[in-house]
Amino acid sequence: MITIIGAGPAGSYLGYLLARQGKDVAIIEEHDAVGKPVQCTGIVTHSIEKFFKLKNGVIAKRLNKVIVASKNNRIAVNVDEIVMWRDLFDKFVAGMAEKEGVKILLNHKFIGINGKNSVKVKDRKNEKIKNLKSEIVVGADGPYSAVARAVGMNSISKNYIGMQAKVKLDMDTSSFECYFGTDFPDFFGWVVPESDDTVRLGIGCFENAEHYFYRFLKSRTGKSDVLCWESGLIPLYNPNKIIQKGSIYLIGDAAAQVKATTGGGIIPSLKAAQSLCDCIINNKDYNKEFKKQSGRELLLHLRIRKILNKFSDEDYDKLLNLMSQDKVRKILKKYDRDTPIPLVANLLLKEPRFFYFAKLLWR
Ligand SMILES: Cc1cc2nc3c(=O)[nH]c(=O)nc-3n(C[C@H](O)[C@H](O)[C@H](O)COP(=O)(O)OP(=O)(O)OC[C@H]3O[C@@H](n4cnc5c(N)ncnc54)[C@H](O)[C@@H]3O)c2cc1C
Repeated sequence: MITIIGAGPAGSYLGYLLARQGKDVAIIEEHDAVGKPVQCTGIVTHSIEKFFKLKNGVIAKRLNKVIVASKNNRIAVNVDEIVMWRDLFDKFVAGMAEKEGVKILLNHKFIGINGKNSVKVKDRKNEKIKNLKSEIVVGADGPYSAVARAVGMNSISKNYIGMQAKVKLDMDTSSFECYFGTDFPDFFGWVVPESDDTVRLGIGCFENAEHYFYRFLKSRTGKSDVLCWESGLIPLYNPNKIIQKGSIYLIGDAAAQVKATTGGGIIPSLKAAQSLCDCIINNKDYNKEFKKQSGRELLLHLRIRKILNKFSDEDYDKLLNLMSQDKVRKILKKYDRDTPIPLVANLLLKEPRFFYFAKLLWR
């Protein structure tokens, strides 16, 4: 038996892939329903369709433009993005796993490893403790991973605070907005429409999240009211993080497999599920294999994040000027952030002035 802790996209997609290979899989989920509470903007590039065709009900909006704003500049770039109802997406992937025979135990919380080959879980309905036999345990239990803590694999994790709320706002609902500069230290702010009158507005930062969030909310909407909160932690990728110890593995946010430029973790967690499934089936070293398959991409995102975090407002103004050229827009349309290596290589080739920003690594 393989026990996966967490029925988020990482856990459910891995369960689906392993069951298709004939493995006996159980997923332990502490909540009484898959997909709740939502702590995500749910925006992905169309690359998600390389993994599966999304059901129509999962898609809230398709967006064809992003407005990128710095202190004194603002440009529109053509894109092809999908905004999902994140709870329905999680249910969709969990449904795929169940169809392949994966058993999902709701209302069950992982509380520890009980010696070799056994996990301890609490049935939250009757508070009973159960020990489940399992040869392999996978922590797909998000940024606060109890599995990582239980086996000492959480030591070098650093997280952004992603503070997001649903807000009433009229805007062009075929585009989303990203805001950069010193008003958004170390990350950025976003406004993403989910329907004709409601948006997901948020910021990421390492500290003082409330201050930056409310200042952004007031400046963008003129109001301070929110409909509901959807905040959470966004792990910062760390190439030195241990993600396998013997028969215990981490995946998704629990393994910090997130793009450091955008905080996007859905597509990286699906890629990681493919890599981990291959490692389990073929008895490969996941610490090495994951780095081979996705490590270079996530490291590139981390390096870009380190450069961006040294930008002044003038640097962002300058970057947007370069991005507004037709030759650059074409590259941005052709390659998305889920293929960062050809994206960056083509940008540097077609516009060498982007090299100017590399020197900021040493500023
Ligand atoms: C504000 C915000 C906005 C974001 N926006 C985007 C975005 O637009 N696009 C994008 O790609 N990414 C986004 N992300 C990141 C994305 O949400 C995560 O990377 C993604 O959810 C990771 O999936 P996961 O399956 O690893 O973890 P999760 O989705 O966190 O799933 C973990 C599961 O484990 C369960 N669990 C936890 N502990 C236990 C336990 N002890 N026992 C049993 N079950 C447990 C939880 O209930 C949960 O169901 C955002 C994150 C935040 C915070």
